[in-house]
Amino acid sequence: MFRAKVLGSFSAAHRLRGYRGDCERLHGHNYRVEVSVSSADLDSMGIVMDFRDLKGQLKAILDGLDHHYLNDLEPFAQDNPSAENIARYIYHAFEGAVKPPAALGEVTVWENDSCCVTYSR
Ligand SMILES: [Zn+2]
Repeated sequence: MFRAKVLGSFSAAHRLRGYRGDCERLHGHNYRVEVSVSSADLDSMGIVMDFRDLKGQLKAILDGLDHHYLNDLEPFAQDNPSAENIARYIYHAFEGAVKPPAALGEVTVWENDSCCVTYSR
């Protein structure tokens, strides 16, 4: 099995509604995002998927989050913009860009150098 991974980043503000502590207050993160795509087979060029396509898709998704107050965005109007919900949002936004036989593996969102969440099906 091969696993290709691309990395991206964005900066955004958020607050966790209902959290009892400092995360309830408005603050920001420089998020880092990792997306992996896996496949047992390679295409005719010997690759899982073109890194350019993967990075382009990730950038398009992250551009929609960059320099926003995440709580104001539709995907987080009900669900808190936690790293967990951000990872799930990016996962579903990415799904359509992955071409068989490759399959979307997992999405990891880092809030800082020591805390991250990974989402997969
Ligand atoms: Zn936070």
